[in-house]
Amino acid sequence: MLAAPVTAVRAQRSAALDWNALGDTAVQLLAGYIRVNTTNPPGNEMAAIKFLIPVLEREGFTVQVLDTETTALGPSRGNLYVRLKGDGTKKGIALVHHMDVVPAMPKFWSVDPFGGVIKDGYIYGRGALDMKSEGIVQLMAMIALERSGIRRTRDIVFIGNSDEELGSSGARIFASRHADLLEGVEYLLTEGGDNLVHDGTLEYAGVSVSEKRTFWQHLTVHGIASHASRPTKNNPVPRLVAALDKLAHYETPLHVTPGVAKFLHDIAPTYSGEERTWLSDVRTALRDPRARAWITSNIYWNAILRNTISETVLSASNKTNVIPSEATAELDIRLLPDADPAAVLARLQAVVSDTAVHWTPFAPVNAPLESPIDTDLFRAIERAARDRVPGAIVTTPMLTGATDRPYYRALGIVTYGFDPFQVESSDAQRGVHGTDERISTANVRAGVRYLYDVLRYAQ
Ligand SMILES: [Zn+2]
Repeated sequence: MLAAPVTAVRAQRSAALDWNALGDTAVQLLAGYIRVNTTNPPGNEMAAIKFLIPVLEREGFTVQVLDTETTALGPSRGNLYVRLKGDGTKKGIALVHHMDVVPAMPKFWSVDPFGGVIKDGYIYGRGALDMKSEGIVQLMAMIALERSGIRRTRDIVFIGNSDEELGSSGARIFASRHADLLEGVEYLLTEGGDNLVHDGTLEYAGVSVSEKRTFWQHLTVHGIASHASRPTKNNPVPRLVAALDKLAHYETPLHVTPGVAKFLHDIAPTYSGEERTWLSDVRTALRDPRARAWITSNIYWNAILRNTISETVLSASNKTNVIPSEATAELDIRLLPDADPAAVLARLQAVVSDTAVHWTPFAPVNAPLESPIDTDLFRAIERAARDRVPGAIVTTPMLTGATDRPYYRALGIVTYGFDPFQVESSDAQRGVHGTDERISTANVRAGVRYLYDVLRYAQ
């Protein structure tokens, strides 16, 4: 199924690449990779590593399997590392993906989420978008670069991390224990790029240079358990509900970061009339109530213009006739990169204004992530994107979710969210962490070549 080892072509200079065969291999590898169930928890990413090792070794790569001690990541987990050497005249580029996936509920799917099913031109399964597909494309683009025989000025580093979806311990441990393996690496590409595609048309290619930070809070109200047939003032449920109601009606302030101003300005030409005017200068537009209402009605723009709060997990009594001793809620709060977590918390506590409500953070707040745009790699992405869609808008949407990038950024590496695919927005919306996650085989094929071009142009 896999093509011949590279040694056969290594002697040639700039060997012609068989894109059809590379595409076939990428599609088959992705289907196989999806069949390796790395649902997190528990992750079991060693199974993914064992799947990738022979693929890499057949191409002559030396694979390092790291952090396998159970004290590091837990049983059956690890990180994977490979380096393709360049001539060292320029610094390296790391291609990073996470090998774990979020759980899938098979009863809501039309196919087995771990079957690696290929039908109607799509590969279905958990990880088809997030992000086994990008991992396979990174692997195949690296192999293509190796086989091509073109002069490589930069090392290419390929990393598979465990546990992105739950605790990010894979990237965190990798970045803290193996900074030496990232020696001489200047750039890093991973998930988080957000290309917007509607009805087959690319509205923009997104290179994510910044992301929001999770600032999750656990709210607790204590009460006194008793029989619900005799209501008391010590029921914690109405108290918690009142706090949640205040937060639900609280509008966080709008705040325009430079990257978001640039992003909205870049996409303004795709709109007309006053909408175009508003987007081209969003700071001014937000002072106009009509413009503000229109801009914030877009749930994505709204989320990149303010800190957001989503009320999600609730728990109290598990019996109708029992007043519980405690009621709790979880808030998914997402901060803009330049927000001050302590100040935000103080503001929200003032909004609730009830000392019976106890606030406890329950996830670490990442370092702010903002990467520079004026780089060789950004220009390589622009060039490769415009090869495909002449005049394509290549811009810098902020990611509302969190990735592993801050751990690598903390090492001084310029990290970009880059998505090598053009996936319909409706597919991405439904599939990522949802049901019937899928990617077209055409996207996988095109993605290998796209990333290959980015890496080639960056040499
Ligand atoms: Zn992901």
